[in-house]
Amino acid sequence: MPVSIRFLGGTRTVTGSSHLISTSKSEVLLDAGLFQGRRDEFYQVNTTFQYNPRKVDALILSHAHIDHCGNIPSLIKKGLRCKIYTTSATKNLCKLMLEDSGKIQEEDIKYVNKVNRRLGLPLRKPLYTKKEAMRATKIFRAISYAERFCVTKDIFVTLYDAGHILGSSIITLEIKDSLRTIRLGYAVDLGRNNLPLLNDPVVPRGLDYLIIESTYGGRFHAPIEEAKERLKEAINRTVERKGKILTPAFTLERTQEVLYFLNELLKEKAIPTIPIYVDSPLATDITDLFKVHFDYLNAQTRRLIKQGYSPFEFLNLKFIREQEESKVLNSDKRPKIIIAGSGMCESGRILHHLKNNIEDSRNTILVVGYMAKDTLGRRIVEKKRIVNIFGLDHELNAEVVTINSFSGHADRNGLLEFINGCLPLKRIFLVHGDEEQSQLLFDALSERGLNAHIPTKGEEVLLD
Ligand SMILES: [Zn+2]
Ligand SMILES: [Zn+2]
Repeated sequence: MPVSIRFLGGTRTVTGSSHLISTSKSEVLLDAGLFQGRRDEFYQVNTTFQYNPRKVDALILSHAHIDHCGNIPSLIKKGLRCKIYTTSATKNLCKLMLEDSGKIQEEDIKYVNKVNRRLGLPLRKPLYTKKEAMRATKIFRAISYAERFCVTKDIFVTLYDAGHILGSSIITLEIKDSLRTIRLGYAVDLGRNNLPLLNDPVVPRGLDYLIIESTYGGRFHAPIEEAKERLKEAINRTVERKGKILTPAFTLERTQEVLYFLNELLKEKAIPTIPIYVDSPLATDITDLFKVHFDYLNAQTRRLIKQGYSPFEFLNLKFIREQEESKVLNSDKRPKIIIAGSGMCESGRILHHLKNNIEDSRNTILVVGYMAKDTLGRRIVEKKRIVNIFGLDHELNAEVVTINSFSGHADRNGLLEFINGCLPLKRIFLVHGDEEQSQLLFDALSERGLNAHIPTKGEEVLLD
């Protein structure tokens, strides 16, 4: 029985993760992520499939980040009819993330069509709408960690905690025929030890093959505790000069981690009790899911919640859904912390807050996530003297503090340690990394005499 993996996306790059496992009896897809890039490439890549979505028997979803789940609605438009297996936390987070993604696609095309109409060019359709995204979430089926589940005639799936974001999974497949069983692991994305809120990643045993991410294949993270220290210093410095702290919100996981550290710092009386606002309906909804799915959180956080120190509910913390309430924050000059989307400052309420506060040197812009090239967030991180917001130039006088130690991905040491725990392995496939990072991890594995491979997009590899 030939068994193969086709690496469809998220190879030699970080977005668009998707891989197809084929046997003589079934086809199983691992993730269906959105490829993120410039507009034309974005549409081309996300609407071209090298297989027939109708023939897929099961989709197993690792986690709710859009680069892993964001192209599910496009697949459904092309005929995907199978069940999508994932944890219940991922299922619910995915609903919010896909709905938001549909909204973003619609807004983007509205803007494109405004220009096209003026130039007499043909009008375009969004990749998928909010409504289409919502339809996608009806075919999810939740399974628990460590529950061995039969998804097709010859494939069993077990999920383990990946320690990356709430509900994230390492997927293991047992592919069976009368003669043998092939065991394949999929750790994309892989978390790191000692993250606030989450459990450490589980190391699955008895695998033959491993597909693993390599985002930080050649880089090392500072310990996560450093983030808390830097947060404390930035807040105290800003409050002393009577300024505001603006944090562009990465709504899923990072916002909740920041709240966790803020709660800790308040408890330790290491920062003053100033108002903290989460000014984002999406971050608010996601945080609510952290409360619903608190059984996915680590023991320490669950204990804190039981003792009445919930990182998601404390006295000076307020979640804002309504636009009107958000606007009121502009006229309130007192020191405060505002966490608002979007993460890379390309849209959302953070733009209004930046417009009103970026020129005042008393204020601080606190960056806690990765800012991609060509975004306003990146220009802020690079401390450009002038930045353009809503078409107008503004002087960047506020202090910019960038905290890199918040990463939810394993670094080089974490990846090597995880792989070490999975040995012996016949072959290790390195995906979800820029070419240079995948290569650095490949070199380290080759030096240790391990059989690693960096697949190209579309490559098919037989498993024996
Ligand atoms: Zn992720
Ligand atoms: Zn990812």
